[in-house]
Amino acid sequence: MKRKWASCSQTGRLTFDTELLRQPAGFRAEVIVHELLHLKVPNHGPLFKALLKAYLGEKN
Ligand SMILES: [Zn+2]
Repeated sequence: MKRKWASCSQTGRLTFDTELLRQPAGFRAEVIVHELLHLKVPNHGPLFKALLKAYLGEKN
């Protein structure tokens, strides 16, 4: 099962697991950018994926 590292509420509050602080910087960036994007795009549709790729680079 994939761990839930962070969440975004409908009121725009982002919550992060403090365990994330012990993860590699690259992974932290992915999780944080992912949640920040949810403030603009609430779902995981094509627009979300395109923006994520734009922010994190081609490896994603
Ligand atoms: Zn998400």
